[in-house]
Amino acid sequence: MAILDIMTFPDPFLRLKAKQVTKFDAELQTLIENMFETMRAAPGVGLAAPQIGESLRLVVVEYTEDEDENAKPKKYVLINPEIVKRSEETVTDLEGCLSLPGLVGSVERHQSVTVKAKNRFGKPLKIEAEEWLARIFQHEIDHLDGVLYIDRAEEVFEPTPEEAEQIKD
Ligand code: ZN
Repeated sequence: MAILDIMTFPDPFLRLKAKQVTKFDAELQTLIENMFETMRAAPGVGLAAPQIGESLRLVVVEYTEDEDENAKPKKYVLINPEIVKRSEETVTDLEGCLSLPGLVGSVERHQSVTVKAKNRFGKPLKIEAEEWLARIFQHEIDHLDGVLYIDRAEEVFEPTPEEAEQIKD
């Protein structure tokens, strides 16, 4: 396992449209494990392959839904993900990004989304997500199209320590 370098804004690589994953081989499994390790070390709750310099439509998310510290985090691997349903209802909240250290932005997102993707072995999966998980999915899937949250944010700023506390992304 290895911790990978995270590319930061304004690296132009972050702006490219990532390529479809076509091979679900051992190399992909290693990349996925390295991405989980890199994300945990950062620490963050989501990471998209373009952020570590791989032009692939691959996202990893590890997120504890419960505020309870004993709750086990849920792991998600989304390959070639597509948002197939978006709620009309939106929520505006603060989010950050490992590629934009030290900044947060206030971003409007769909309250819930349905994502179709492949799992790490190429099997189809469908996930209905809401609230923070939906926000994380929308943020990470944006990365695959070269979109950063600052493109959507109403404002971007350096958070106070209290604000930084509540950012989960
Ligand atoms: Zn990000």
